[in-house]
Amino acid sequence: MSERQIHDHDSAEGLVPVDEARRAVLSRIEPLPPLQMPLTDAYGCVTAEDVISRVSLPEFASSAMDGFAVRAYDVADATPGGPAELKIVGRSEMGKRPEATVGMGEAVKIATGAPMPGGADAVVAVENAEEDDGLVRLFQPAGEGQHVRPRGEDVQEGDLLVPKGRRLSGAELGLLANAGIPHPLVHPRPRVIVLSTGDELIPPTETPSFGQVRDANAYTLFGALREVGAIPVLAGIVRDDPDSLKETVFSFEIQADAFVSSGGISVGERDVVKAAFFRRGDIEFRKVAMQPGMPQGFGFIEGKPFFGLPGNPVSVFVSFEMFVRPALLRMMGRTQLGRPEVRARLTGEIRGPKGKTVFVRVEVSRGPEGWTATPTGGRGSNLLSTISRANGLAVLPAGVESAGEGDPIRVLLFRASED
Ligand code: AMP
Ligand code: MG
Repeated sequence: MSERQIHDHDSAEGLVPVDEARRAVLSRIEPLPPLQMPLTDAYGCVTAEDVISRVSLPEFASSAMDGFAVRAYDVADATPGGPAELKIVGRSEMGKRPEATVGMGEAVKIATGAPMPGGADAVVAVENAEEDDGLVRLFQPAGEGQHVRPRGEDVQEGDLLVPKGRRLSGAELGLLANAGIPHPLVHPRPRVIVLSTGDELIPPTETPSFGQVRDANAYTLFGALREVGAIPVLAGIVRDDPDSLKETVFSFEIQADAFVSSGGISVGERDVVKAAFFRRGDIEFRKVAMQPGMPQGFGFIEGKPFFGLPGNPVSVFVSFEMFVRPALLRMMGRTQLGRPEVRARLTGEIRGPKGKTVFVRVEVSRGPEGWTATPTGGRGSNLLSTISRANGLAVLPAGVESAGEGDPIRVLLFRASED
């Protein structure tokens, strides 16, 4: 590489800072219009309104034990030596209205979870009872409310069941089901069309002839999209021909909530994504002060966000993290858009061009001395294996050229620790 090329590649003149580029993208992204969705589809989606309970939960008082529903007053003096003797007037079973109410000197035989009969205010467990020809002897006293699960103990009618902005996990789905809200109002998952551009690309099922490259980016993006909760649609490989790119994009437009392309945005209008959309003014192309991932395209096709990412596989990964992921989270109604971060100590030196924010693939781990970060390989943005070995991106901020062994550094964690 000549002196001049190195200079060009690393120069930060006229570049947009990463944070500014990210803010510019996010300022134009809104949550998708909410829909009422069945609970199983709503899983992982974010509520678009406060969900208020129209019922109290549990909806009826029930017994917490197999035993006898009684009036606490009637058994107040019961002892093993002097049991209270009550008349069994009926049963209360699961899912049914009790056969009888409990009057003075009476008991109803009750199953765990069965409704408390009228008149009863306590349950004596079957272990402390002896049944005998329509009568029951109870050997222990019971305080009012003993072994009774009161109505509304969990939720009162009018209570906030799930707040707006909450991501629905199994716990919330169960609660909504129980409260009779089978179609909560949520922001849907965006359907994202993935396009790989390049004359050199072939699908991974084919054997490359010399100079051909198996499409990696579609699969990197597929996984990243699935992980964020979006629905990826792989539109396949598009040749470096603006007309076929436009044709493909518009053929998917009807089902798209967003587009992500890789490649074809670097050098000039010769690059296919630029050639297809630059003149139309749909997509803006900017040079962002970051490495990897300097060129970025962003705009709208028929009102749907289009992210034109660079072609190099590591650039795709980092650009997705910086721009696409937070935008999709916002479309899904999430407000926490960033990755968890740690401050770690570097185990080796890292460096990069001074004017750019440099994202270094690292493996972070927690040792007795705290977090450490170890670069997983070279700087090249074609080195895919370095991401697969990494669990974090160390951030060398613009203005800082290098950081040495033992220096603290900010790391964005992109893999859950149990992965
Ligand atoms: P481009 O930005 O289109 O010039 O691509 C930059 C580099 O990334 C070239 O070496 C491409 O071959 C490579 N590349 C582009 N798209 C892909 C892809 N989908 N999978 C693997 N490598 C790619
Ligand atoms: Mg290309």
